[in-house]
Amino acid sequence: MHHRRSEAAFSSSKIHDMGSLELRSADSSPPRCEFKPLDPEEFRNQAHRMVDFIADYYKGIETYPVLSQVQPDYLRTCLPKTAPYLPESLENILTDVTEKIIPGMTHWLSPNFFAFFPATVSTAAFVGEMLCTSFNSVGFNWLASPAATELEMIVMDWLANMLKLPNSFMFSGTGGGVIQNTSSEAILVTLVAARDRMLHSCGAASIQKLVVYCSDQTHSTFTKAAKLAGISPHNVRSITTNLDTDFALSPVLVRSVVEADVMAGLVPFYLCATVGTTSTTAIDPLEQIADVATDYGLWMHVDAAYGGSACICPEFRHYLDGIERVDSLSLSPHKWLLSYLDCCCLWVKKPSSLMKALSTDPEYLRNKASESASVVDYKDWQVGTGRKFKSLRLWLVMRSYGVANLQSHIRSDVRMAKMFEGLVKSDPRFEIVVPRWFALVCFRLNPFSWASPGYTELLNRKLLEWVNSTGRVYMTHTIVGGMYVLRFAVGTTLTTEHHVAAAWKLIKEGADAILKGIRNC
Ligand SMILES: *Cc1c(COP(=O)(O)O)cnc(C)c1O
Repeated sequence: MHHRRSEAAFSSSKIHDMGSLELRSADSSPPRCEFKPLDPEEFRNQAHRMVDFIADYYKGIETYPVLSQVQPDYLRTCLPKTAPYLPESLENILTDVTEKIIPGMTHWLSPNFFAFFPATVSTAAFVGEMLCTSFNSVGFNWLASPAATELEMIVMDWLANMLKLPNSFMFSGTGGGVIQNTSSEAILVTLVAARDRMLHSCGAASIQKLVVYCSDQTHSTFTKAAKLAGISPHNVRSITTNLDTDFALSPVLVRSVVEADVMAGLVPFYLCATVGTTSTTAIDPLEQIADVATDYGLWMHVDAAYGGSACICPEFRHYLDGIERVDSLSLSPHKWLLSYLDCCCLWVKKPSSLMKALSTDPEYLRNKASESASVVDYKDWQVGTGRKFKSLRLWLVMRSYGVANLQSHIRSDVRMAKMFEGLVKSDPRFEIVVPRWFALVCFRLNPFSWASPGYTELLNRKLLEWVNSTGRVYMTHTIVGGMYVLRFAVGTTLTTEHHVAAAWKLIKEGADAILKGIRNC
């Protein structure tokens, strides 16, 4: 109400630009201002209106092309060059969202989105996010919001428990967990902790000699983190994988590469293994790699951004076998545990290494609780200082659904991926390229025994383009071992078997069209 009145007051005085406002305020009293950015009743009205808008969007999501069809810079010509001087109504703004923003969206929540990895969501996480946002607590240390810190500790222990992690990763044991924004930050902070631990024992001047290890399937963010941590780009060892081991890291190879570095007088200190690589969900053998890490005193991190969530099901837990021997583990509930972006859970065995590397102690944040060292100050576990009360979202998810439903959500996605895999196998023109471990199917069209790799790649590029240009499905590709592969990642929250079957039908139509085109020329 207040908002509307102030809008009327402004427009009746016909103030169109800063100049006239200055004139007016110079020679008389300033305009009466009833601007109240957080009027509870107006909040109620607008938030209810927004919830309706969002529910309608979710309901009608399949009416939009999954992959946005706009051209770069499309929005500039649709919107004014400057921000409005006078207030506009939410209705007007929502009209623009419908007409100008949504056409430029790639709809990640569409049930026909099978690209990358899905970013899963849920009602519980949404309402949890509302609560988190509404409090706007900036809980950098315990005192700045005790509940925010303590709930995060509890939720991290709950999830650790669901994953059957050993006590050494829990607050109830000797370790602990923290919610980071992204896997990239989880890798960065552990890398910095490991770096400082190593430099502490071998001297700061050795930074040039520090070496990190990953595989050629490790997420690209690892190289970025190494750069940010001051590791020489010459000392990032990306160890080759191949089809014979389904693109998993070979412990024998890791050992020989580390050994060669030691012989050359370098200082190996950090190894990143992956459970569920981004390209094909390859799983590195943790136990055997941990042998190498232990022998050479490397900090071993496990990046399970996507695949880790599946390990809440007993039948997938074995992918984490050996986890008790590593130093840190991260996984992102924003990928597969229904939590909305962004939410990456990181557990460390030695929180003290993180804190040694990242803690700050400015006078203005000092307080008795922190000084007594009896509390966790999460600012010392992350890059930033301020942080949201994100654990609310996970807490709502776990409580609203229970472990039982979270497990069946994972199983249902895996079942749908298996179904898709079966459909691919039933068509002799197609092949599965690497085994399916989770809910990602890597396949390709390969109908001609005589075709060169380049020709097969061309066919698949054409097929992907054909499928995505329909706007009915969105898939992506990867290249592994020199092969161009199509990725079909099942699991947006709204996807059902019917969507998977329809997507396969479309892919087959695409193959028909492309192969017919070839025969005709
Ligand atoms: C998605 C993904 C990442 C990157 O995650 P962000 O949270 O976007 O930084 C890292 N590693 C793996 C294995 C992933 O699948």
